[in-house]
Amino acid sequence: MGNKKHVVSFSGGMGSFAEAKICVDKYGKDNVLLLFADTKMEDEDLYRFMFETVAFLDCDLMILTDGRTPFEVFKDVKYMGNSRIDPCSKLLKREPLIKWFTQTYKPEEAEMHLGIDFSEHHRLTGVQERMIPYVYRSTLVEEGKIIPKDYSEQFGIKRPRLYDWKLGHNNCGGFCVKAGLGHYKALYEANPDRYKEFEVKEAEVYATIGKQYPFLKKQIKGERRFITLKEYREEFLETNTVTPDEAIEFGGCGCAI
Ligand code: SF4
Repeated sequence: MGNKKHVVSFSGGMGSFAEAKICVDKYGKDNVLLLFADTKMEDEDLYRFMFETVAFLDCDLMILTDGRTPFEVFKDVKYMGNSRIDPCSKLLKREPLIKWFTQTYKPEEAEMHLGIDFSEHHRLTGVQERMIPYVYRSTLVEEGKIIPKDYSEQFGIKRPRLYDWKLGHNNCGGFCVKAGLGHYKALYEANPDRYKEFEVKEAEVYATIGKQYPFLKKQIKGERRFITLKEYREEFLETNTVTPDEAIEFGGCGCAI
C-alpha cells in the first residue's frame, strides 16, 4: 500500500484553504486531494478561489454533485430546511462526501481533514466519534491555529468575495437556511439582487409544497415570528428598522460536518 491519502473537505472557505495548505506542506502534494461538494448554487467567485487554490497547491481535486440545488431539494422532500433540520446539507454535502470517502478508501488508507480552526474545535469531536474507524481530523485544531479570513492573500490568492460582503462563510452563493438576520442584512447591503433571487426561490418552495414555514426568526414586540426573506426586506431592511442585536446575528453553518 502506498502513502496514506489526506483528503481535505474543501468548502471554499478559508479554513479549508488553510487545512489544505498545511496538508500539502506536511504530507506532500501527491498525498493530498481536495474534495468539494458542489450545491449548484455556489457563488461564481468560489470556483475562482478553488481553482486558484488547486493550481497553487498542485494537488488533486474531486468534485461531487447531486445536480440539485438546496431549493430543489426542499421541493423534493417537501420541507424547507432550517437551523435544526437541513436536508440540503444532508443530501448535497454530508452523505455524498461520506459515501465517496468510505467507498474510495479503507480506514487505513486515508484520513479526512476538515477546515475547522481552533476557534471552532468543539465541532470536531462529534464527527470524529461518528466516523470511527475512519480518522477525521484538523491540523488547525491540533496545532491551535486560528485562521483569519484573508489568510490566502499572503500566497497571492484573493479571498472569496463573500467575505468582502461580510458573510461568515462561502457556501451556497450567500444563502443558508441556518443563517441569522445579520447574515441576510449583510447580504442585502452587499448584493440586493442576490438577496432578491433567494426571495423568489424561497417563495417557489412554499408554492410547491403548499405551505409556508420560513427559516428566518425575528423577535417582534416580545414574540418570535417566522418571516420570509421578502417580509424581512420589505418590513425591516428597507425601512431601516433592524435592531442592533439582530444585525450581529449571523448563525452557524458548518454544513458539511
Ligand atoms: S450552506 Fe446552508 S443552505 Fe447551503 S447546503 Fe449548507 S445548510 Fe444548506
